[in-house]
Amino acid sequence: MDETAGSGEADRARIGREYFSYVRGLCAAASISTITELIVNFDWFLSVPWWMKVVRISITLLAVGYWWALPRYDPQLRHAFTVGISFFILRSVTLAQVAEPHNAAFFYSIALVAVTTLAQTRRDILITLVVGALAFLIARDGLIPPKAYLGFGIATLFAGYFGMSFLSFRGRLFELLSRLKGQTRTDQMTGLKNRRALHDDLEEDFRRLQRNGTLFSLLLIDVDHFKKVNDRYGHAAGDALLKALAADLRAGIRNLDRFGAGEDRVYRFGGEEFAVIVPNADMDAAAKVADRLRRRIESTRFDADPDAGPLPGAGMTISAGIATATRGMHWSELYNAADLALYRAKNLGRNRVERADRAAPGVVAPDAVASAMPARADANSG
Ligand code: GH3
Ligand code: MG
Ligand code: MG
Repeated sequence: MDETAGSGEADRARIGREYFSYVRGLCAAASISTITELIVNFDWFLSVPWWMKVVRISITLLAVGYWWALPRYDPQLRHAFTVGISFFILRSVTLAQVAEPHNAAFFYSIALVAVTTLAQTRRDILITLVVGALAFLIARDGLIPPKAYLGFGIATLFAGYFGMSFLSFRGRLFELLSRLKGQTRTDQMTGLKNRRALHDDLEEDFRRLQRNGTLFSLLLIDVDHFKKVNDRYGHAAGDALLKALAADLRAGIRNLDRFGAGEDRVYRFGGEEFAVIVPNADMDAAAKVADRLRRRIESTRFDADPDAGPLPGAGMTISAGIATATRGMHWSELYNAADLALYRAKNLGRNRVERADRAAPGVVAPDAVASAMPARADANSG
């Protein structure tokens, strides 16, 4: 049930491409500034020891080479990142060892690019550039050999340009990432949170329970006789009904907010199976929430949907099982307990709420434990 996979992949690929063009841009900047340095300080370059020449030329070739080669690699973020970062570390370490006055421009450009890359706002970049310009004026007064001026100027321009482009790139990246995260945790059909979100939220709630004893309960809800809806009205009508049911459950929880249950704690974790995490609720409080939801659905009319046609109108019901978390419990135990209670609610005639702490004799669900979120059961053994 992963309708979101397609768009998630597309977003991931887009982030990969954008990040790539950023690293590639950095490499291009580095190669141009390195080559410019070489040309501007050519007589200095001739005067340095042979190994320095080798290092210099290698660095220049590396920069040009990465710029050329990056788009031809499989766009792996980590790889691109490693390449970009290693290049700058290599460059600054080499220069730090040499510490020639001419190299001030290199240090300066590295520092500027680093600062603008870390900058949080346009103002940070502006300040960096102003400081850069002041340093340039000071350098003009004899601290730095004249030929390094040009290096300073170019470095400042590049740093400003890349700082700005990185800022907007990063903004888009964060936006994409948060959308991606939202998509992987949202059920597209109903807009409720999905099974994965339920799993994550349960883990988080268990951590909180362990830390400061904050109680919570889990409701598992299954729509009664849903197959009949599909059979009688068709699958499209079934979908429309599920959407309406989801909206109604959410509205019900919103109305009950004095119990401390946020409406974002409603989940669709299966076909016509929903869950609610009720924070700060012991069994009694959760049972009240569940029963109000049950009565609400029972009295709601689900009339014709404009796209899907006629719906069953009144008479839709749900069954629910409730379990309350206790310290030291594993989330799958809580889930299984609620699932068993739900199974009992079905066996006892549907349209009812059953509590995990009130087992009715003679009702057993042999496959309830085996069916409990099997795909994720091993994901939280720690
Ligand atoms: P009960 O729960 O009361 O025992 O009966 P039921 O008919 O609801 O049975 P069950 O919960 O086992 O089956 C749920 C049915 O819901 C199976 C499937 O046809 C239908 N269903 C599951 N997911 C979807 C969906 O996304 N859209 C539609 N239209 N139907 C779905
Ligand atoms: Mg079901
Ligand atoms: Mg059902």
